[in-house]
Amino acid sequence: MNPGQKMLESAQALIKKTAQSLNLNNEKIKRLIEPEMIYEFSFTVPMDDGTKKIFKGWRIQHNSALGPYKGGIRFHPETSREEVQALATLMTIKCAVAGLPYGGGKGGVAVDPKNLSKSELEKLSRSFTMKIARFIGENIDIPAPDVNTNPQIMAWMLDQYQKIKGVKSPSTFTGKPIEIGGSLGRTEATGRGGLFVLEFLIEKLKFKREDLSIAVQGFGNVGYYFAKLAYEAGFRIVALSDSKGGIYKKEGLNPEKAMEYKKKNKSLSGFDGKNITNDELLELDIDVLVPSALENVINEKNASNIKAKIILELANGPTTEEAYEYLKDKTVIVPDVLANSGGVTVSYLEWVQGKQGYWWSEDEVNKKLKEMMRRAFEAIWQKSKEKNISLKQSAFETAIERITKAMI
Ligand code: GLU
Repeated sequence: MNPGQKMLESAQALIKKTAQSLNLNNEKIKRLIEPEMIYEFSFTVPMDDGTKKIFKGWRIQHNSALGPYKGGIRFHPETSREEVQALATLMTIKCAVAGLPYGGGKGGVAVDPKNLSKSELEKLSRSFTMKIARFIGENIDIPAPDVNTNPQIMAWMLDQYQKIKGVKSPSTFTGKPIEIGGSLGRTEATGRGGLFVLEFLIEKLKFKREDLSIAVQGFGNVGYYFAKLAYEAGFRIVALSDSKGGIYKKEGLNPEKAMEYKKKNKSLSGFDGKNITNDELLELDIDVLVPSALENVINEKNASNIKAKIILELANGPTTEEAYEYLKDKTVIVPDVLANSGGVTVSYLEWVQGKQGYWWSEDEVNKKLKEMMRRAFEAIWQKSKEKNISLKQSAFETAIERITKAMI
């Protein structure tokens, strides 16, 4: 089964279960499951050597009850229709959990951007935009970065979009560079939001940060900023990894120094402490496990070896349904739709700033992010206590209640 299919099944199973427990009728359940629109296409990109290559791309608009579709664009060799659909579904739930006036969408291209030159990457980004330009817009569908996409790619896409449309419309894309209407604090926002959620949680659980050891899987934009900010806030980061492998040191690692090392040596291995594999990182005897890379990494094969007391899901869909069922009574799992919603929350703040043409300082953005994350967290936490259900169940219930109230 492709990884996207697995994630899609896990997300849909949870929606169905939650919707049934809320006594929703079949029509409502169907509307929560079926995407409103699936665009699947192929497009041609001229390569540096003069040849042309065909790539497959998707934009899936899952649900728009709460507002325009919102969600990132992923460039990954294993991206598939099922994966993009699963991620679009999770965006619908996430935007509702975060209290944002958005529905859910997602885009993707099946490509390994590491095999492209900079100019090929630009051409691919522009060609992809030509395909989606007709059905996105600041009040229709608002893309953003996701795995392997970044502010530079958003800049190319926005430029292409504006050339096609003949208007300036910066709020059609979020996660842009500051110079063209991006928001201060957006790059760090997913990591920072994850840290806020962890801080709110340990306050409730009466844990002290000094006592907690943290392992972070994934050293991209999300994992890196989470690790760096958590380290600066006094948490002990004992393990880090990227797609090639990781490192472990009981006394703690400095993520910023690890990034400097990785930039020079192209790998984390040998930086400090002991070299470990990604699988070993997940099974370490630590307090907080932070999967921050791809889906399905915590699954039926390794669930019984997971020792962490808390799993903070900063990746989308890192825990399969089977692993969740196995772990939910012994581990506090903070679901992706809450834990990583800091990214889309600052995307919303960027969108609002762009529409007003009025920009906030980084401090103002971070303060608003914290307030919004606190509100989102408290609602999920309260419901989970009142109904004695897991945070994941509570998040899905909260979201589905909000979405179905808006369904006309
Ligand atoms: N790709 C991010 C996510 O999965 C951010 C989406 C956005 O900012 O629209 O939440």
